[in-house]
Amino acid sequence: MAATVTGATDRTRARYAPFVLTRMSSLFLRTLRDDPADAEVPSHRLLVRAGYVRRVAPGIYSWLPLGLRVLRNVERVVREEMDAIGAQEIQFPALLPREPYEATGRWTEYGPTIFRLKDRKGGDYLLGPTHEELFTLAVKGEYSSYKDYPVMLYQVQNKYRDEARPRAGILRGREFLMKDSYSFDLADEGLAESYRLHREAYATIFDRLGLEYVIVSAVSGAMGGSASEEFLAITETGEDTYVRSPGGYAANVEAVTTPAPPARSVEGLPEAQAHHTPDTPTIESLVTFLNAVGLGREFTAADTLKNVLLKTRAPGAPEWSLLGVGLPGDREVDLKRIEAAVHPAEVALLDEADFARAPFLVKGYIGPAALAANGVRYLVDPRVVTGTAWVTGADKIDHHVVDLVCGRDFTPDGTIEAAEVRPGDPAPDGSGPLEAARGIEIGHIFQLGRKFADAFGLDALGPDSKPVRITMGSYGVGVSRLVAVIAEQSHDSDGLIWPRLVAPADVHLVVAGNAAEIRDGAEALAAECVAAGLSVLFDDRDARPGVKFADAELIGVPTIVVAGRGLASGVVEFKDRRTGERTEVPRGEAVGRLAALRDAG
Ligand code: ATP
Ligand code: MG
Repeated sequence: MAATVTGATDRTRARYAPFVLTRMSSLFLRTLRDDPADAEVPSHRLLVRAGYVRRVAPGIYSWLPLGLRVLRNVERVVREEMDAIGAQEIQFPALLPREPYEATGRWTEYGPTIFRLKDRKGGDYLLGPTHEELFTLAVKGEYSSYKDYPVMLYQVQNKYRDEARPRAGILRGREFLMKDSYSFDLADEGLAESYRLHREAYATIFDRLGLEYVIVSAVSGAMGGSASEEFLAITETGEDTYVRSPGGYAANVEAVTTPAPPARSVEGLPEAQAHHTPDTPTIESLVTFLNAVGLGREFTAADTLKNVLLKTRAPGAPEWSLLGVGLPGDREVDLKRIEAAVHPAEVALLDEADFARAPFLVKGYIGPAALAANGVRYLVDPRVVTGTAWVTGADKIDHHVVDLVCGRDFTPDGTIEAAEVRPGDPAPDGSGPLEAARGIEIGHIFQLGRKFADAFGLDALGPDSKPVRITMGSYGVGVSRLVAVIAEQSHDSDGLIWPRLVAPADVHLVVAGNAAEIRDGAEALAAECVAAGLSVLFDDRDARPGVKFADAELIGVPTIVVAGRGLASGVVEFKDRRTGERTEVPRGEAVGRLAALRDAG
């Protein structure tokens, strides 16, 4: 694994263009004038209108000729950078037996997200959502000695996930193309190096594709493990919220940790006192009441301790168990952060029936005392440290207790990141106040550690003949999603604007006019372009120039060339799709200039 990331320059030229001259008169393409009714985001709208993709079912799309070219171009960039770090391409089936996923617990853990099916003999199968199991087994099958390691393997393959909310066309599909790679190392330092190589390769891929992105620290999600980062493309339409600080901190909201204040002494703090606080089931009503009765100081919501009751269930467990979460009353609960914190257990809010089964829970007046007395696990926000005093429920209708001190009057079972992260909160690394931004996950790199090696007993025989447990990394890029993300970041009101590297052609040549001289002149120019190695989308259709121009804008090839009346006086028009700039170019210079534009990337 000696290879390092090399420069992109010599790799930008080769392009997937199986038909160097594409005649639009016979191209399998019908552009649409109207937006599809179900399209919420620009990339979806434009990719459908421009005839790149077509919907088959929710989250399931076909690729038409131009779309497939862009997809293949993106795929090629990803492959080049994987090969450059010494990863080796292999391919697994998408249709997989249940057993390996049963062995790691993911058959159950993935829940309804997996497409499961049965064969004619009743055997259980699934369509692979990700392939850690198969890669681990493959390496176990081929390798045995420490001398075999390290190794990095990858594939580019369709993945299947029955997403709860397939969305925005190919952005969140139920079938989608992913590059997934896996590293296998003997020791932690090796894993760190494989991780670093992937991190650099991913940065190179996304740089080459011209994307604006951030790298955020992430929670480990469905996998459990240590270091984990996500690459998020910055877009307003993104589903992922992340936070950043002026000092360069960036993290998924789920990964933000709350700096805990130092614990204080409980000595000399006022005694806890229960008060009759009629009709105060909400924080707001409680604060208003406390300030109205005059307890000698002013209260705010931040002085109250709000106790939220949830239930959790470990994967495969038959029963739910109660979980009490205490957090400052001025903060809302962020269920996604709780989900990340308790993963792989599921979590849900309590319903009426749950409350009926636990009469010691007095809704609106729940306090730590009843939880402790009834053996309910109680986790608190990290700001609730020893020596902090709170107003909280007294476990009796219309009653609260004031000056209940953590570490003196109640002892939580631990802390949990359950509270919403707010703009202005301090970054955990001290790099300043946080602000929220939106993005779309395009890549994920992840130090898995030994979870999968443990599940399958993947060992290498060491120099001393003792087995060494292998440590793994897993790394994913959403290849089909990238097509949508590029479109999302690069379009205008008229259509798509592809970066040259992934455009479906180098040149979009429009024949503007029906005169034989114009047609013949354009044909000759197209042929010269092809001879110079340029791929040409040639609009030789029998249509009005206005229609052709509109389609050229919509389709988004970076350079549009118009061959029209100017040919008679020896000029064609170049239009830069990005800037809109038009230039008259002498016919004799056209091919050379187009080749130069392509080579400039
Ligand atoms: P997300 O948080 O967006 O659901 P994930 O964390 O489940 O993604 P991973 O398992 O890390 O995704 O998959 C690796 C990459 O595959 C992601 O970074 C993303 O680019 C892509 N991807 C994941 N799910 C989808 C999907 N439903 N459609 C298209 N691409 C996807
Ligand atoms: Mg992820």
